[in-house]
Amino acid sequence: MNVRRTLLTSGITMLMLHVTPGPLLAQHVHGAATLDIGIEGKAGQATLRASGEDVYGFERAPRTPAERAKQEAALKLLREQGATLIRFQPALGCSVTTERAQVVSSKGGHDEVEARYRIACRQAPAGKPMTFGVSQAFRGIETLTVQLVSDTAQTSRKIVRDRGTVTP
Ligand SMILES: [Zn+2]
Repeated sequence: MNVRRTLLTSGITMLMLHVTPGPLLAQHVHGAATLDIGIEGKAGQATLRASGEDVYGFERAPRTPAERAKQEAALKLLREQGATLIRFQPALGCSVTTERAQVVSSKGGHDEVEARYRIACRQAPAGKPMTFGVSQAFRGIETLTVQLVSDTAQTSRKIVRDRGTVTP
């Protein structure tokens, strides 16, 4: 499927496979989002997953124009604000661009949002702590579990309300 194909073409397949959780629609916990990051040298990928509830307030198809607008605004934020959600030190010259941001529907009524980002830096971010702006953007997200694998680090950390850093 898509995820796998993207990983295979990424050049960091082995790194990412270690941090990709099993089924995409494993039962999520409201208030808790996950961010998987793979970095090799100056390039990388990141995948953010969160519940629809936390990102736009419901977990089914929108029923009104207002709900549709709310969902679209949230997806737009995910698409356009990658570098605000996932923050590298400015001196590294990193760009965080969106490959896609979409709703992943579930039959059980727990739709999720998945956003995939491509990271490209002028200078390798190894050893430079990263910070996050996920809870600031989506107030429903209380904790962000970050799993990071790079050519110099392998780490898992729970970031509560954007406090704390992860170092590649
Ligand atoms: Zn849910």
